[in-house]
Amino acid sequence: MSAQPDGPEDRLRRFTTIWSRAVFPVTSTSSTRAELEEQLLPAAQRLSEALTARVFDPEAGRAAGAALVEAHCTDPDALTRTLDCLDSYLVLYCGGDGDREDLRARCARLQHALAAGFAEALRRRTLAEQEAIAQAALRAQGVVAQALHATEARFRAVFEGAAIGIGIADLEGNVLQVNGALLRMFGQSEQALRSRSILQWTHPDDAPQVWKLYEELVRGERDHYHVEKAFYRPDGTVLWTNLTVSLLRDADGNPQYQLALMEDTTERRLLNLRLRYEATHDALTGLPNRTFFFERLEKALAAGEGQRFGLCYLDLDGFKTVNDSLGHAAGDRLLVEVADRLQSCATAPGEMVARLGGDEFVALTTGPDTRRKVDELAARIMNVLLAPISIDGRELTVRGSIGIVEGPAGERSAAEVLRSADITMYRAKSAGGNRFEVADPEADARAITRHGLTTALPAALERGEFFIEYQPLVHLGDGSVRGAEALVRWLHPQHGVLSPDRFIPLAEHTGLIVPLGRWVLEQSVRQARAWQERNGGTEATGPLRINVNLSPCQLTHPGLVQDTVEILERTGVEPSALCLEVTESALIGADDDLLKPLRRLAEMGVDIALDDFGTGYSNLANLRRLPVSVLKLDRSFTQSMQQFPADPVDLKIVEGIVSLAHSLDLAVTVEGVETGAQAEQLRILGCDTAQGWYYARPGPPERLHELTLADATS
Ligand code: C2E
Ligand code: MG
Ligand code: MG
Repeated sequence: MSAQPDGPEDRLRRFTTIWSRAVFPVTSTSSTRAELEEQLLPAAQRLSEALTARVFDPEAGRAAGAALVEAHCTDPDALTRTLDCLDSYLVLYCGGDGDREDLRARCARLQHALAAGFAEALRRRTLAEQEAIAQAALRAQGVVAQALHATEARFRAVFEGAAIGIGIADLEGNVLQVNGALLRMFGQSEQALRSRSILQWTHPDDAPQVWKLYEELVRGERDHYHVEKAFYRPDGTVLWTNLTVSLLRDADGNPQYQLALMEDTTERRLLNLRLRYEATHDALTGLPNRTFFFERLEKALAAGEGQRFGLCYLDLDGFKTVNDSLGHAAGDRLLVEVADRLQSCATAPGEMVARLGGDEFVALTTGPDTRRKVDELAARIMNVLLAPISIDGRELTVRGSIGIVEGPAGERSAAEVLRSADITMYRAKSAGGNRFEVADPEADARAITRHGLTTALPAALERGEFFIEYQPLVHLGDGSVRGAEALVRWLHPQHGVLSPDRFIPLAEHTGLIVPLGRWVLEQSVRQARAWQERNGGTEATGPLRINVNLSPCQLTHPGLVQDTVEILERTGVEPSALCLEVTESALIGADDDLLKPLRRLAEMGVDIALDDFGTGYSNLANLRRLPVSVLKLDRSFTQSMQQFPADPVDLKIVEGIVSLAHSLDLAVTVEGVETGAQAEQLRILGCDTAQGWYYARPGPPERLHELTLADATS
């Protein structure tokens, strides 16, 4: 099988060999090293797959932790060695040629999951062991009882040979007999151990029921109990045990002795504590991490009536620049310093600081009066960030943006609170950073809807939730309908009909605008074809035309020209019956490359309209360069003509634009005509076509047909 010496299989095998070699010396198993390797192989396989899977799932880490326990690698050292081994070799052998940064991040998450899985499996095993010991105690009780009455020798064998500590005492608490295992656990001689009454074996960590159960047992009211209990050793160290105590009765059934069975759990407990610490603290700064913070926040939110919480969500401004320019090591030191300073801000009871990841931190305050306290907390945080941080001899100024959320316990979930804080922090950031903002439910709702709409967009297109309304374009000279502008709408299952202003920016942002725009183009051109078939238009007016809006992103999309040509050919619509509307702002500063597709379309005979003209920086001189044949004057011009008489300066401007446009051979369309007076004014000023509520609101395609019929009969 050496034909492919370096295949992924071989590399996985090599990784597993290294792993098994690392943990074998600390394993309490009767298997050989090679057998252990076989046992670890499936777990290694899953780790390897998780590392490069398309969607990352840390579950493989948990499973690997459990596999370790399963393979009897329960020594804390086995975990440490495993984590080291993953750290050094997993990416190397199993990472393939994936992105290193990403692989390392995944590896770190797998390590965390592995530690958690290990702890969880150990805990489960402990429970199972406790159960087994309790069973053993019951059996031993029988054995001991018999032995005390009968064969002393047989009892001795059970007693001395046991791996767990066993002791027998009378009901007054005098120790009568202990086995070797118990003496080793306590690190004490039999003499010393027997010299103390059981009643003196107390420890401050004893749970209240420990001694209550004891009393009940020696009174004969219960036959056994099971607790976790700590004892002091003579050297002052603490021994933790799983303790099972059973009552032994004499032949007549009267209580006579007590039998204790102990399992030493000190190591396991320490390991659990360490794992718990590692799982809940950030390795870099030592601050509580996201997991820990979530626990605390959930607790604060579950607190009773009258209790409140206040949260500051901090994100450093410009941290990426520090990382990029000074390197990650410097970035790390900066984070450590920031963490230290933050910690000094939240020292009162009920307050905590945590690092959520990257350069994001949170500070929490709880209690009945967080309204005032959270503001003070935010102010303290801004204040401690003021002094520059010195790194590599440079003085770095650190600024941050904070989102504050404050409120009563019991109303929101931790995830909701954190999301609100996150949104608010972004508001602070987009307002320029170095400030704090307080959460505002309305702003939250808007951001959440925006987010919801964005994620729903792709499916909406597939499900056919978009539809198009058409608004007629009317010739100002004779009042005839010359065509229509296609305006897209979204019939959202929950929010009803949404106007393009609500979703076009989101579609542009996510790139969905390209397929959506193509769909609108195809539908509208088909519609134009249908109109033309029913009503060919008169000789004077020519065929009915269709105006379709294009987003800037569509302009830069390489398929634009080809898609348009194909749609026109498929539907049999003349290019001259199509007008593409592009906003002025999309063409400002456009270079020849950007204009090339538009120019090609214009050469074919497609009209290009400059939409919303006059809203941006209208460089009239620039018009000559653009492949444009129509100017669409923005609604704001029409609005200024609403009052009578209209502002003479506005009139002059429109007149100037119209005459310039005409001298450049451009037709002029006006938008937003709402009254007859406006229409008349614009006609006098020389505008060619108009669009607006005065003629018709955007509506279904049949409406346009009715309007053109009315034209024909008038
Ligand atoms: P636009 O291209 O400037 O479209 C004209 C807007 O003015 C339409 O708003 C229309 O309903 C509205 N309007 C028409 N007559 C009047 C009037 O007399 N008074 C007033 N106050 N308003 C009037 P709508 O439909 O909400 O569209 C808004 C914008 O969304 C459009 O502005 C266009 O830029 C964009 N849009 C619409 N459909 C599409 C599309 O399919 N693709 C792209 N990329 N953008 C689109
Ligand atoms: Mg338009
Ligand atoms: Mg417009």
